[in-house]
Formats: sequence, structure tokens, C-alpha cells
Amino acid sequence: MWLRLRLLPCLLLLGCGAPSAPAPVAAAPTAPAPDPAPVVIPGTFAPHAGPDGNSVVLDAPRGLIVVDTGRHLAHQEALLAHARAVGKPIAVIVNTHWHLDHTGGNAELLAAFPDAEVVATPAIDGALAGFFPDSRARGAAFLASDRGTPAQRDEVARDLAAIDDPAALRPTRPITRSGPVDLAGRTVELRVAPFAATEADLWIVDEPSHTVIAGDLVVASVPFLDTACAAGWRAALADVDAVPFTRLVPGHGAPMTHAEFATWRAAFDGLLDCAASAAPTADCVAGWDRAAAAFIPVDDAERTDQMLTYYVDERLRAADEQARYCAPLGG
Ligand SMILES: [Zn+2]
Repeated sequence: MWLRLRLLPCLLLLGCGAPSAPAPVAAAPTAPAPDPAPVVIPGTFAPHAGPDGNSVVLDAPRGLIVVDTGRHLAHQEALLAHARAVGKPIAVIVNTHWHLDHTGGNAELLAAFPDAEVVATPAIDGALAGFFPDSRARGAAFLASDRGTPAQRDEVARDLAAIDDPAALRPTRPITRSGPVDLAGRTVELRVAPFAATEADLWIVDEPSHTVIAGDLVVASVPFLDTACAAGWRAALADVDAVPFTRLVPGHGAPMTHAEFATWRAAFDGLLDCAASAAPTADCVAGWDRAAAAFIPVDDAERTDQMLTYYVDERLRAADEQARYCAPLGG
């Protein structure tokens, strides 16, 4: 989720992004094969703040693969602390999509590990040409005013700094088609979902651990539809469902079993169907609240409804926005 959804700017960095990762499994001395179990460094979504996406760390023979880098400094500090704890360099950054809550920390990780590859689709180029300039102007106007708390102003300043450093956002290894790739000596299946949460999302199948890393194709409490192409997103979820995974790490929220994902997917399809009908927006929101109840934290129900009302009216039911996001952003 990006800069414009200013229902909810800002954050206190204090409690953010502390890793609750399980202790790493030490490799046996005679078996140097990497631990296949992905470690989740959870993102946060504090009140009145922008979110950090979840990060997932995979161990590979030549270092760590870090999937998504968060937005706030505390999240990157958690990732770097994890690398120190396991005693391995970050060899590869994978960005599931270009939203700054998943890419904003690339610069911090690259400062610590300058040789790390950045693996992503080239969709960032469309964002740099056709999306970030407006975000940047709004952010600069915000900073030029006296609005916001210090934490909110810091968050916006960090977003602008990320936008102004495109070299850290662009992939050194662009991915344009689905298939297996070698990342630091570990084979990982990358899938490209065109026109879904963004112009091209990456999602990952890690077969050894039966895990899908879904990025923002799955956001537990409410799908972040800011740059969504609804039809492509729906199709991508069908592709995810066809994978025989046992654990799915969403872009935000707690990991899901396959059955839990199926429930979430049905709620998503129901939301799209409702938005395409003549039903009042409030009915679509209420339908989501019922169908996705298991994924909505009780203390986040009000924000969830606010966001969903915005998304139904300003994205799903806005034909011009669907035309915009179901086509290349860069023109
Ligand atoms: Zn996100």
C-alpha cells in the first residue's frame, strides 16, 4: 500500500518490526545443505501509520534471500539483525511488487550488502513514470506544510527518499516470465501475475517447504486495492489455489493454511462480485466483514471498513481506475 491512502498516515517506530522468527536450525557439520524453512519477519500496520509488508527469509548456499524489505527503518533493522544472528550475508532481495511498504527498505539492505541482487518484475519502471511523480508531489506538499506528527512526516520523507533512489528499486535481475530460478544457489519457483495488485506481481512457490509467498495478492484483513486490476487479481488467486501448498505467507497478516486461503479467496471473489453488482457499497463491506471475519483483527475492524469503502467506490467501481491499472502504467 502506498502513499495516497492517507486515512492513516504514520507510525511510531518503537514497537515496529521486532522479529518473532523462530530460532534458526543449525546445519549439521556433515550436511551443509541450507535449512529449507522460510522465516517470516512480520510487518506491522500501526494506527495512523502506513504498513510494512511481511518479509520472508530463505536460507541459500551463498547467503540469504530476503523477500520484501518493508518501509520503516525498524523493519530493515529487524532484517539486518536476523542476518547477523544467522551469520550470513543478504545475497538476494526479491520484491514481490513495487509498493513502498515492500521495497522502501531496499536501500538500507543494499547499503549493508552492496553485492546483493535485486530480483523483481520491471513493473517499477511503470510506477516511476506513471505513478510516483504524483505521489512525490503530494508528499512534498505535505512536508512543505505544517501538517502531521513528527512520525508521520518522517514516514513521508522516507517514502520520498525511496522514490528519489530508483537504482535501489529497480531489479538488477528483471523477471518477466514464470519459472524456476537459481537464487544464491537455491532453486525457487517465481510466478509472474500480470495486472493484479500491481502491473506485474511476483509470487513464489518454495517446493521444499510447501510454502507460497504471496506478496499482496493476499492481505489478510483487507486486500490493498490501491493499484489493483480486479480481473487479473482474481485470476492470479486461482493460480495460487492450484498449487499444492500447505502454508501461505500473505503480504500482510499471519500465515494461512491452504484451507484458510480458500476461505479468503472466496471472500475476495465475493467482494468483487458485489462491487460489480448494484448492491450498496455498505452491503459489499458487510459481506467482506462476514466472509473474512477470521482474518480481521477485532481492533482493526473500523479501519478495515473505512479502507474497503474507499476501495469499492474509488477503485472497483471506478471504470477509469480499472482501465488505468489493467494497462501498463508507463503508457
Ligand atoms: Zn503491502
